[in-house]
Amino acid sequence: MKIFYLAAEAEPYIKVGGLGDVAGSLPHALQEITAPNSIDIRVAIPFHGALQQQPPPLKFLTNLFIPHYPQPLQAQVYELENSSVKTYFINGNCFAQDAPVYSADASLDGIKFTFFSLACLELAQTIDWQPDIVHANDWHTAPALYALLVQDETFFRHTGRVLTIHNLPYLGHGAGEALTEFGLPPALNSPLPVWAQQLPLPLGIYAADRIIAVSPTYAKEIQTADFGAGLQEYLCSRRNDIVGILNGLDLKVWDPSTDPYIAVTYDLHNLDKKENNKKLLLKELGWQPSPDTPLIAMITRLDYQKGIDLALSALRKMKDIPWQALILGTGNAAVEQAVAQLQLDIPDRYKAILRFDPHLSHRLYAAADMLLIPSRYEPCGLAQMIAMRYGTVPVGRATGGLRDTIQDSGNPHTSTGYLFESASSDALEETLRRAIQNFAQRRAWRKMQRNGMMQDFSWARSARQYLNVYQEVVEKKILDPVVQEGSS
Ligand code: ADP
Repeated sequence: MKIFYLAAEAEPYIKVGGLGDVAGSLPHALQEITAPNSIDIRVAIPFHGALQQQPPPLKFLTNLFIPHYPQPLQAQVYELENSSVKTYFINGNCFAQDAPVYSADASLDGIKFTFFSLACLELAQTIDWQPDIVHANDWHTAPALYALLVQDETFFRHTGRVLTIHNLPYLGHGAGEALTEFGLPPALNSPLPVWAQQLPLPLGIYAADRIIAVSPTYAKEIQTADFGAGLQEYLCSRRNDIVGILNGLDLKVWDPSTDPYIAVTYDLHNLDKKENNKKLLLKELGWQPSPDTPLIAMITRLDYQKGIDLALSALRKMKDIPWQALILGTGNAAVEQAVAQLQLDIPDRYKAILRFDPHLSHRLYAAADMLLIPSRYEPCGLAQMIAMRYGTVPVGRATGGLRDTIQDSGNPHTSTGYLFESASSDALEETLRRAIQNFAQRRAWRKMQRNGMMQDFSWARSARQYLNVYQEVVEKKILDPVVQEGSS
C-alpha cells in the first residue's frame, strides 16, 4: 500500500505543536507494525525557514511548476538522506528564511500551504508514484484532497483521500483567495454551508473519503453545536465516514526509566524515587519540599482553549489548603499576563515560567504530583498521557481525548486520574480539592499512579486503527473507483 502523508510540520525536523508529534511518529509506527516492504509510506513537509537555516542531510530531487494565476510558481523538492521513512521537503519562494511555520497573516499562510499541497500532488506525478492514499492533516494540507476531487486527474483515479482533524476550529480563515489563485474553485454546489465553501478545512472534509478525529469523543463532539465550529450539521451528514483514533505517545522520548533530562530515573517498581525529582526542583525554586503538599503542574500553550483562567481562579479560591503550583507555558499575551499576575499575589506557592522549554517540561512531568488540564475542548491531548507515564496524576476536564484517556471511577484504586464535567472554576475547584484530599491517602494515591503508568499509549495501537481506515478506503476505491463526488 502506498501512502502519501502530508503535514505542515513533523518531528524531529520541525515541531510547533501536537501535529508535529503525530506526523513524526505515525509514519514510523505504520512501518513498524507492517511486514517489511508491505507499506510504502512517504511524508512531505514544507521546507520552512527554520529548516533551511539548519537543514538535515538532504539531496536535491526535482523542480516542479505549480499551476497558479497569473503565472505558475516553481517548487524545489529535496529528499531526506538515510531515512527509513522517505521524506520530502518542498521549497518555493513563499518559504522565506525568516518566516515562522505559521504566520499571523492568514493570506500568506493560505498561499504557502496551498502551494505546498499542490506541489505534493505534482511531485507524485513527476516521480510517477501513484499513491493509494493521500493523507492530509488539518487545514494546511486539506487543499490537496480538494484538488484531487475537483481536478479529477486520471493519474489519481484510484487514490483514496483521508483527512485527520487535529483541531477543527482552525478552518483556514483568510486562505480562501489563495485557493482561487491556484485554480481551486469554491464548492458552490456542495452541501457545505455557504460560508464554508471556500475554506480549506471544510473543503478537505468535503473531499475526504474518511475523516479522522484524534479521539473517539472528539469524533462525536465535532458533530455538536458546541464543538462543530459551524460545520456540525454537515459533519453529522458524514457521520458514517468519521472515525475517532487517539494519538499515541513516543514511548522512547517519554520514559521515566531512561529519560536523560530528569535527575533521578524511576519506574513502576521504584516509584518512591520520583519524589527526588520533586525535591530537587522545589529546591531550585527556593520552595520548601513537603511530602504532604502536592505539586500541581500545568504544561501548556497559553490559549483560551486550555481553560487557564479556570485554573487560576480555582487556585485563588483554595488558599485554605496546602498545594504548590507551577505553570510552564507560552502563548496568548493576555493569558500570559494573567498567569504572571497570580505569582505577584501568591509568590510563596505559585510560579509562572513563560517560555517553551522541552527539557524543563520533562523535569516537571517527573517532579509533579498532579497535572492540571482544564481544557474547554481537547481534541486528543498528549500532556495527560505523558503525565500518566510519569506517575503524575492528571486532573482534566471531561472532553475529547481527556475523557477517553483518563479514568475517574470516583475511587482512586480503580482510577487513573480525575475528570470534571462543566467548564467552570467551581467544578475544577471541587475536583482539585477531591484530588488533594486523596493525595494524603498514600497507598490509594500510589495505586492510582501505578494504574496510570500501566496504560498502553503506544503508537502501535493507533497505527493499527489508521491501517484499517486505509484498507477500507482502498477497498472502497477498488470496488467502486468512479464514486468520487463528495463521497458519503
Ligand atoms: P496541543 O497540541 O493542543 O498544544 P497537547 O497536549 O496535545 O496540546 O500537546 C502539547 C505538547 O507540547 C506536550 O508535549 C507538552 O508537554 C508540550 N508543551 C506545551 N507547552 C510547553 C512549554 N511551554 N514548554 C515545553 N513543552 C510544552
